[in-house]
Amino acid sequence: METTLVSDLFSDLDQAASLLKEKKKITYLEALCLAGEGIYTEQVVDASLRDQLEKLNRSFFREKMTSEDVRRAFQLAVLKGMKADPKPGREMTPDTLVLLIGHIVSVLAGSRPYTLLDPAVGTANLLTGILNQSETDQVDAFGADTDDLLIKVAYTSANLQQKDVHLLHQDGLKPIPCDPADFVVCDVPVGYYPDQESAEQYALNGINGKAYTHFLFIEQGLNHLKEAGYLVYLIPNSLFTEDKDRLFHDYVKKSAIILALLQLPAGLFQDAKNAKSIILMQKKGEHVKVPKQTLLAEMPDFMEEDKMTAFMAQLNDWLAEHSA
Ligand code: SAM
Repeated sequence: METTLVSDLFSDLDQAASLLKEKKKITYLEALCLAGEGIYTEQVVDASLRDQLEKLNRSFFREKMTSEDVRRAFQLAVLKGMKADPKPGREMTPDTLVLLIGHIVSVLAGSRPYTLLDPAVGTANLLTGILNQSETDQVDAFGADTDDLLIKVAYTSANLQQKDVHLLHQDGLKPIPCDPADFVVCDVPVGYYPDQESAEQYALNGINGKAYTHFLFIEQGLNHLKEAGYLVYLIPNSLFTEDKDRLFHDYVKKSAIILALLQLPAGLFQDAKNAKSIILMQKKGEHVKVPKQTLLAEMPDFMEEDKMTAFMAQLNDWLAEHSA
């Protein structure tokens, strides 16, 4: 991965988005989608900016650049747009976690074709990051989100990365028209789910008398998995303590196996209350083996190289043993 290439790609996206933002009086994220559309359709999206946009469109696709270079450059532009116009719940999965989850999926999937779903796909940074780390090109990928601008951002990013992804602008807790998945991944939205009628369709409705979005998304993920499929989610650390009546505990015991729980370093989160873990579960099925040991780990700070190397070795040994 070339850092200068990523910054050059970012610079092209940023220049085009900034021109369109000023000209059309729209937000940076909206302008970024328009700039991206101009690049992948090879069209000038504003005639009064023809000269500048044509030049930027022409220079974008460079020799030897990869989809991963484009994802990283686009991610920088999205971060800039989100910072300029912050909205609660409009977040992107950070790169370090995209790489870690991508690694877990890639090791478990190996070179087999697979179906992948992210029911709260946001900008598709997580989804496309997983696709880029995949050993196979044969991944049938689906993503859903309620936020229409983020779905547009996801669509733009996938097109620029030349990835074929089915994106659905819909509530991820309503039935999702996709094939049963081998992997469901999600950086789950945390909070209360306002649609009581839909919540009533879920066994995990009513934890502490409430409809928690994060619990419902776990049930939804398991609903959409094939037997023996994997769920890899970023969940709030508070999830287990919220489950006071052990409704979640009993539900999981019936339908899945918790294979690993990796607590992320506290330093990644501005407020310790919002700290998260990665949970890896496998849906029960005929040939599913219970692992000798659940992998429970507190992850070191990502900047502590020696500790991180030792952690990755432990994770890789565990994954190798599990997928053997
Ligand atoms: N993984 C995403 C990425 O890389 O950009 C970030 C996901 S973000 C932490 C959580 C997402 O959940 C937001 O994009 C939000 O719009 C979405 N969301 C919240 N409630 C939802 C629902 N009921 N159905 C679908 N998406 C939902």
